[in-house]
Amino acid sequence: MLTKKIGLREILKGSLKFLSMKFERSLFSMHLEVTRRCNARCSFCNYWKEGSSTKELDDYSPIIGKFKPLSLTITGGEPLLRQDLEEIIKRITRVSSFIYINCISNGILMTPDRAISLWNAGLTQISISLDFLDDRHDEQRGVKGLWERIKRIAKDLPKRGIDNLAFNTVIMRENLKDLPQIVEFAKTHGWKVSFSTYNPYKNQNFSHRLEPGEIQKIEATVEKLIELKRLYRNITNSNFYLKMIPSYVKNGGVKGCLAGKKWFHVSPDGRIRRCSEKEFLGDWREVVLKQIPGTRCIECWYACRGEAEAPLNLSRISELIR
Ligand code: SF4
Ligand code: SF4
Repeated sequence: MLTKKIGLREILKGSLKFLSMKFERSLFSMHLEVTRRCNARCSFCNYWKEGSSTKELDDYSPIIGKFKPLSLTITGGEPLLRQDLEEIIKRITRVSSFIYINCISNGILMTPDRAISLWNAGLTQISISLDFLDDRHDEQRGVKGLWERIKRIAKDLPKRGIDNLAFNTVIMRENLKDLPQIVEFAKTHGWKVSFSTYNPYKNQNFSHRLEPGEIQKIEATVEKLIELKRLYRNITNSNFYLKMIPSYVKNGGVKGCLAGKKWFHVSPDGRIRRCSEKEFLGDWREVVLKQIPGTRCIECWYACRGEAEAPLNLSRISELIR
């Protein structure tokens, strides 16, 4: 079971919403950046250098009410820097007949009490970023002691009754050989893992990028992950997404991006972008989903992009709800 929170009634509501989404060609998922402020210092992102210059809305529920996504990912910046995050989540659930809400945190401010408070406010999944199982994670994220903190969180949160927890792991050159151990670590503590391929376009840091020269290593790692996924059932990515990683690296991109069609990105001030890397399309009140033009961009193979393109066949549906 995905989480005890989603019972048969919710599955039925979600299925009806999915069908109406297919029929009306409405949004599959939305990424909501509730702040660009961040307390980490990641080497591959410049958000933390921006300070608090971007306006933040108090209430995003009118945006959810307009676009009615099936699934919502709350991101940042670091979302837990918003003291009113619980209120934001509650308002969103009030305008939604069914919505799957995942919140991705870097873990610095995550405590069992805050996690419970967010869970009770209406989260369906809590995700923590984790790229290495040692101090390299601290170096990568620029936060001393972060790995030790995440180790504690990994043990403590399941004990508090939160049953849908995941690590978000960026696949980069330096951690290829660590990925199977991350899956094992997650399995030991009852967590899932969601992988996303590194992209250098946030701040032009190409040093972590997967390179075609290492394709054999990349292919072997992907094969191993697919095997672990079958064994442990704790990898959330579709096989479609994982299998496409080597071809993304070899070809320097993947065609067919549906950003702006099946999903899009909302900035803290309510402006909409196709994805976090692309230009603003306008304020949420002005943007009409069916009028957003398609894109030929092939630059990234982020999971948010790839999973929206994964065929929704029976085996994928059973993976998603089990
Ligand atoms: S990648 Fe995420 S955690 Fe790291 S600085 Fe950027 S917003 Fe913060
Ligand atoms: S491929 Fe799509 S999601 Fe990726 S950067 Fe380009 S427009 Fe954004």
